Amino acid sequence: MRPKKLLIVGGVAGGASCAARSRRLSEEAEIIIFERGPYVSFANCGLPYYVGKVIKKEADLLVASPELFKERFNIDVRTLHNVRQVYPQQKEIEVQALTTGKIYREKYEALVLSPGSEPVKPALEGIGLPGIFTLWTIPDSRDIISWIKSRPVRRAVVVGGGFIGLEMTESLKKLNIQTTIIEMQPHLMPSLDPEMAAFLHDHLTSGGVRLYLNSAVTAFKSDEDALTVILASGRTLSTDLVILSVGVRPRTELAAAAGLRIGKTGGIWVDDRMQTSDENIWAVGDAVEVKDFILNLKRLIPLAGPANRQGRIAADNIFGNGSEPHRFRGSQATAVCGVSGLTVASTGVTEKFLKQIYGTDKLPDYEKIYLHPDHHAKYYPDAKTITMKLIFSKTDGRVLGAQAIGLAGVEKRIDVIAMAIQKNATVFDLEETELCYAPQFGSAKDPVNLAGMIAANVLRGHVSVGHWQDISDLQALILDVRTPREYRKGHLKNAVNIPLEMLRARLDELPHDREIWTHCFVGQRSYYAARILQQHGFKVKNLSGGFLLYPAVERFKQLLKSGL
Ligand code: FAD
Repeated sequence: MRPKKLLIVGGVAGGASCAARSRRLSEEAEIIIFERGPYVSFANCGLPYYVGKVIKKEADLLVASPELFKERFNIDVRTLHNVRQVYPQQKEIEVQALTTGKIYREKYEALVLSPGSEPVKPALEGIGLPGIFTLWTIPDSRDIISWIKSRPVRRAVVVGGGFIGLEMTESLKKLNIQTTIIEMQPHLMPSLDPEMAAFLHDHLTSGGVRLYLNSAVTAFKSDEDALTVILASGRTLSTDLVILSVGVRPRTELAAAAGLRIGKTGGIWVDDRMQTSDENIWAVGDAVEVKDFILNLKRLIPLAGPANRQGRIAADNIFGNGSEPHRFRGSQATAVCGVSGLTVASTGVTEKFLKQIYGTDKLPDYEKIYLHPDHHAKYYPDAKTITMKLIFSKTDGRVLGAQAIGLAGVEKRIDVIAMAIQKNATVFDLEETELCYAPQFGSAKDPVNLAGMIAANVLRGHVSVGHWQDISDLQALILDVRTPREYRKGHLKNAVNIPLEMLRARLDELPHDREIWTHCFVGQRSYYAARILQQHGFKVKNLSGGFLLYPAVERFKQLLKSGL
């Protein structure tokens, strides 16, 4: 039965898309959005850029107004209205109008919950001190801006090095504020594996950002002049501003109080049509747990894209658009972040996530490769290196995840691989993918093709790969096939240097009774070398990621040791 009255709790990403889609499917239904904040459909993803003055006017953050919803969609938007309770038996909600304090009930035939998530504020001493902010709403951004305007703010501490922390670091840098990031984990950006994050650390530290990794904040203090951030190590940092971005938690209080099922991850349980455990109630966005598209398990993936799609899917199912239900396929956590000119993007699983889920002894049979292609043809000016990691199933070549980092062309490659993952594509598909090419945009062998080719070479047995993680205990001979000049500039411990061009003439210098690991700068010449050696009967592996990856990892280890 098509409902005559739809109520929606939360009027931003998931709620607003659900409302607008619902109207397109039903001209008859009464649709009301309840939003406890002052704005509906605002661009929360744009907030860091508003603080950093890239987005100049606050009004530009307002994607749609209540008036527009009324005039264009005939949707009643009630901002500053807090939904306090859901009564599933009576099919009613209890609402408080925050401007007048009036409490009233509203009946529904269908209810959609899209209350989002909220920033975690750990119960640390001094967490409520003036000058410590989270960034979640337009009023939050206003508070940060007015703090910066009202006093000399030269130093900032960002606690938490995830997406919002990094975007704020970029914005603070634009405002010439010296920024320090404190991260409890051993590396920034949880959506990356540590060796990929190493490039991010290098970029940030060389741009003047200070990093404290593996460092927990235990307290904040303040005096007249400054705030003090106290770390578990006992170290103290003096600062003028603190941005807290230590994670989010789904808002599930309404759902839990209404007796709706809450999943093991702590998000609202929904089926693949976004229906909750009550047949008249639907839930979408950050508040729900979703199926991981690759591993088929429930996860929390708080991102705008999934929230918008889920809102649309809920509407389709509520109003019965089409004979088949519209099913959410799951999410694969495709995400991108820009920081100081660097782009970091990822899709699908990381090795770290696999280990977290399965433990090191029950890991699925996967392989990984690294590559460092240029973002467009090398001969065309301004080619920039992208460092990529591809994770794939050893059994059937299915692509499981990819991470990329670089100054240009990064998100385009991850988007292509994200689509490949959605189609259950294999590395053999990436190898054959036809992508647009002209020198200023890409290469005839696009980085996506190269990733597929390298991985396919591994699966076809053309080459075996060795990994930087195993270098320290390695019994194999390390063969550096770069030029002597490159070798002299820096090389791996105990590496023997035979340039690729001389390899065929010097094969008798190499052992047949010991494994050989070839390497060069990025992994291409050493692949050629591995092919030569393999065809001459040597037991050989190519060090994936080459010398470019290794020093970044070493610098990362040093950074961890130094604590700064
Ligand atoms: P929201 O969009 O947060 O909307 C929930 C709304 O519900 C809120 O406005 C809240 O006031 C309201 N509400 C809650 N409870 C009640 C109640 N009881 N009664 C009435 N109203 C209620 N994602 C990306 O993919 N890319 C990005 O670049 C990105 N950047 C971000 C930057 C920032 C600073 C922030 C804060 C988020 C960012 N996100 C980004 C995350 C993205 O914004 C969220 O994933 C998305 O908005 C979730 O949509 P939602 O509808 O679940 O919740």
